Amino acid sequence: SQIKISCASLPSFPSMPQSPGHAPQPIVSRHVAVVGAGAAGLVTARELRREGHSVVVFERGDQVGGLWVYTPNVESDQIGLDPTRTTVHSSVYHSLRTNLPRDSMGFSDYPFVAKDDPDRDPRMFPGHREVMMYLQDFAREFGIDELVRFETEVVRVRFVEEEEKWKIKSKQRYTEMDEIFDAVVVCNGHYTQPLVSHVPGINKWPGKQMHSHNYRDPKPFQDQVVVLIGNSASAFDISRELAGVAKEVHIAARTVKYETFGKQPAYDNLWLHPMIKNVCEDGSIHFQDGSFVIANIIIHCTGYKYHFPFLETNGFVLVDDNRVGPLYKHIFPPALAPWLSFVGIPFQVITFPMFELQSKWIAGVLSNRITLPSQEQMMEDVKALYSSLEASGTPKRDTHALDDKQVKYNNWLAGQCGCPAYEDWRMEMYYATVKGRLAHLESYRDEWETQHLVLQAYQDFIKPAS
Ligand code: FAD
Repeated sequence: SQIKISCASLPSFPSMPQSPGHAPQPIVSRHVAVVGAGAAGLVTARELRREGHSVVVFERGDQVGGLWVYTPNVESDQIGLDPTRTTVHSSVYHSLRTNLPRDSMGFSDYPFVAKDDPDRDPRMFPGHREVMMYLQDFAREFGIDELVRFETEVVRVRFVEEEEKWKIKSKQRYTEMDEIFDAVVVCNGHYTQPLVSHVPGINKWPGKQMHSHNYRDPKPFQDQVVVLIGNSASAFDISRELAGVAKEVHIAARTVKYETFGKQPAYDNLWLHPMIKNVCEDGSIHFQDGSFVIANIIIHCTGYKYHFPFLETNGFVLVDDNRVGPLYKHIFPPALAPWLSFVGIPFQVITFPMFELQSKWIAGVLSNRITLPSQEQMMEDVKALYSSLEASGTPKRDTHALDDKQVKYNNWLAGQCGCPAYEDWRMEMYYATVKGRLAHLESYRDEWETQHLVLQAYQDFIKPAS
């Protein structure tokens, strides 16, 4: 059943934004909407409620876990270009295992440790179902699933100036509903809307194309010649899995950090090439070094686009070449802060603990416990980030790639929230995994040798919470 929330009792909308030097504001409880019940939405709901806010989580799926809820279904347009296609949220393939050790992935006070249960996956790099079950345990443990409205899609989020509130239109089957909230936290994930690279000549190329979003298992590729575009974690996993069944597998990569072009060691049907130059009507695919193959299928492993089809912000938040902005600290659009925020925008990070810190900060800011700088100061900070990225030659599309910068970022958030600093062992696990992947691409998930880091993690897990 749907609950119509009365807005009569909601607190009045304070003037925004707060600026330093203002008298301390009273601690208040807000009525907050969270879009999405993946890892980001779940931890956000928990942190908001802990801070005393009232929370409604909108989830268009029928269970919590987001991307980790595997489905064998694929989209009707497998390359993801047709906006009217039937869509599928998860990009997880059947054999997917985590690319980080489980201990590094867990929330700070709810460790992702192996369970003594034959139905669970105890591996250090477990399969996708184990991650989903961890998130479902987390939601149950803290009663977050009670806050979630399942099979309810947010179709419009709009700031109503006269009321100084957010109006959310949601749809559950054939019923639409409008509700009013003080604040909205967007946690809709960013691995669902395929980004496809332009391949010259593709319109006349006779083969099949798809995006890795729609890859599930290798069976349909039996005896085929497959070309994958991209050199990401998915391209890497999928190419190795396909090499077991396909006739030939070719990877076309823009940047190659650690491998050499040509036939790959330990495989007799897997090659690495530079980028595709063009493709032709006769089925050939030509690479930039002059070599070519005749192929049946191209799989675009070229990443995803940030996509907020429901969000109406009058231009205060735009997506430009995969930069979502302007966002102060990748979270608050200065002109709408703190009433609109985003959890989970950065990538090349250990995701769940970062989501936790981001959402603690948002919850504290919304209650007035933590003060944001002025709108102008936040804009200056965003501009400084853009200038430094430009000066270092970082493309716009990598604005939210943190990688080495994540410790500083997380510690900054922890400092704002008054939380302990980000644990050293987490980052050491991250770096050890990156190193292991470079050295032993095929076996890094099973030859995990940094047991001392696991011991450090466990020492932290048994410490009483401060
Ligand atoms: P999601 O998990 O995508 O959740 C978003 C939720 O929002 C979904 O439930 C969706 O149904 C809902 N939603 C979206 N739009 C609406 C709407 N309009 N109305 C209502 N609900 C909506 N990270 C790791 O830490 N370790 C890994 O090993 C790892 N492996 C990965 C492998 C792949 C192939 C991919 C693509 C990503 C991987 N990641 C990994 C990153 C992963 O994205 C994060 O771990 C995390 O699960 C993202 O959580 P999220 O809540 O931001 O998004």
